Amino acid sequence: MTLPGDAVPRYDVSARLGTDYYAVFADVAGDDLAVWRRAQSFVDEVGGRMHAAWDAAEYPLDLVRRLGELDLLVDGVQHPAVTSFSPLAAGLVTMEISRGDGSLGTVVAVQGGLALRTLALYGSAAQQARWLVPVARAEVLAAFALTEPDHGSDSVSLETVARRGGDEWVLRGAKKWIGNGASGGITLVWARVDDASAPDHGQVRCFLVEQSAPGYTGTVIAGKGSLRGIHQAHIALDDVRLPADAVLPGSHTFKDASTVLYATRSGVAWSALGHATACYEAALQYAQQRTQFGRPLAKFQMVQERLAQMLEELTGMQLYCRHLADLETAGGLRPTQASLAKYHNTRAARRIASTARDLLGGNGILLEHGVMQHLADIEAIHTYEGTESIQALLIGRDITGMSAFV
Ligand code: FAD
Repeated sequence: MTLPGDAVPRYDVSARLGTDYYAVFADVAGDDLAVWRRAQSFVDEVGGRMHAAWDAAEYPLDLVRRLGELDLLVDGVQHPAVTSFSPLAAGLVTMEISRGDGSLGTVVAVQGGLALRTLALYGSAAQQARWLVPVARAEVLAAFALTEPDHGSDSVSLETVARRGGDEWVLRGAKKWIGNGASGGITLVWARVDDASAPDHGQVRCFLVEQSAPGYTGTVIAGKGSLRGIHQAHIALDDVRLPADAVLPGSHTFKDASTVLYATRSGVAWSALGHATACYEAALQYAQQRTQFGRPLAKFQMVQERLAQMLEELTGMQLYCRHLADLETAGGLRPTQASLAKYHNTRAARRIASTARDLLGGNGILLEHGVMQHLADIEAIHTYEGTESIQALLIGRDITGMSAFV
């Protein structure tokens, strides 16, 4: 029996078009290009799987391990034990993986950007020898736990406590939204030291916790409408006992957690660019394939104007990202410059995804066309690593010299 649906035309809007109107990335060469190509091949290999994973809210660990095997999880982390990417290569990887799938883009941000970076910056020689390579290769999944149920934007006020007693630490508190926090691997927990006799009393430091430790409970957060293909956890730390050397000796204050977040904020700007590129390219292809009123959508003036607006914003995002990488390579990237790029790019990505969704009409809400998934995933990256308002406050403090954080 022929169903009416059999006659529905098929649209193929997933091809990579390589949009780069100002040739922003035309000079990428050598190792940077090789790494970029590797990320593209990975997306080509696994991209199709992620619609189903997103739909079913499944975290495909085999794909995470594949990212590790391909050495695509090292972000821009600099340590002799792991492969070094230039800031440009790290950004291109994040962009490309996010273009393919936002949940996997977030895996790169969590496993590499947050956890690996924290270990490389602050871990002891013994911690680094034990964990850096397994984390870089995704043989061990790793989490970075700063946010708490009652402290998100004001994570500086975190309440998780690390009590020092004799030869051990005892951790008590709760964390929320922690990527890989219920993966069976390790969690880098930021907690406030409670030891009135010690100089670090009251300071926020980082602790390496194996998730199998008694008292550690990670519960996957269910019911997400964004980034459904990666698991975040709500973590309870119920008097978790750790050896004295579980503290990362290089972590001394909350500023050390902020340093990690500044670095990964650039990554979110790149990730937004990946999402927006996918949405723009899908809209362009759909407008060329879909016929209404006897002509392709792309032949209507209003459609062309909207495509031009999307390209204008996308090109701006590309310029931000390229300049971020160039500033970082030259050693001159300031934290608030990364904030400005995150602020600009996640806002622009939201607008581009929304326009693309509309240009695909009813098909725009079908997961098979990709745009809806990106639209939903952008909502999470708009929030994490500091919300739009928090970035505005950081930038505002920088340009006025006055803090409005009260
Ligand atoms: P809130 O801080 O409660 O903010 C709610 C709203 O109030 C926002 O719009 C915010 O901009 C606004 N607001 C807050 N303060 C002000 C102010 N002073 N002025 C004006 N407006 C203000 N954290 C981790 O530690 N590790 C992770 O791996 C991790 N992964 C995450 C993954 C996902 C998918 C998500 C959604 C979050 C993740 N987070 C993680 C937490 C993330 O960093 C926080 O969600 C974020 O910092 C915002 O905190 P909040 O959700 O508590 O929102």
